[in-house]
Amino acid sequence: MFVGHYAAALAAKSVEPRAPLWAYVGAAQLLDIGWTSLVMANVEHVSFDTTLPGSPLVLYDMPWTHSLPAAVVWSVAALLVMRWALKLPWGAAVMVGLTVFSHWLLDYLVHRPDLLTGLGPVKVGLGWWNYPVPEQALEMGLIAITGAMWAGARTAAGRNAWPAVVFIAILVAVQIIGTVTAPAGSAFAFARTGLIVYVALTLIAVVIDLGKPKAAPPVAWSGPAEGEQVA
Ligand SMILES: [Zn+2]
Repeated sequence: MFVGHYAAALAAKSVEPRAPLWAYVGAAQLLDIGWTSLVMANVEHVSFDTTLPGSPLVLYDMPWTHSLPAAVVWSVAALLVMRWALKLPWGAAVMVGLTVFSHWLLDYLVHRPDLLTGLGPVKVGLGWWNYPVPEQALEMGLIAITGAMWAGARTAAGRNAWPAVVFIAILVAVQIIGTVTAPAGSAFAFARTGLIVYVALTLIAVVIDLGKPKAAPPVAWSGPAEGEQVA
């Protein structure tokens, strides 16, 4: 699962638009942002087997980012950061946390059993990577459905749909490039490329956020301004 993860971000943005797009886009891949960083730091480990169908990744060691307990911790941490640092409303902060957790659920669908559950050494994963054509169709289908939801939500709010169209086109392009490109030689180089892509997509989301309409001025205070005479 690569760009399919961003479907969660697009769905979240369409139903809870009060969090910025970049937060959802970063959240959808937060576990992989952590994973690529920890692979580069030699804390988690990956190897490649190009004879495997779907994905050449052999994800034999990633307890800090892709175990079920770790996914819960990352999700709650993201929720709290959104709430306390970005001062998002609770609903939006919770939606960012759920978007982080969606990553584990989608990985559970496609990964071969390499995800720790926290219950001893048992690893889980339904292994849809072993069926590359339906797996790719799933990722593209998720992006198409949630992209349409997001574009529809923008249009319904009287906003331009084109940023949605551009972002989805970029995701499709990234997926195609990722599919036809063999992994770089070392785990470090592979992780570095992945991290660059995740950060770049988050920065593109920041640019899209810059186009948001001006918020209405606050109306909560209706008393006299400082120094104003009260009749
Ligand atoms: Zn992942």
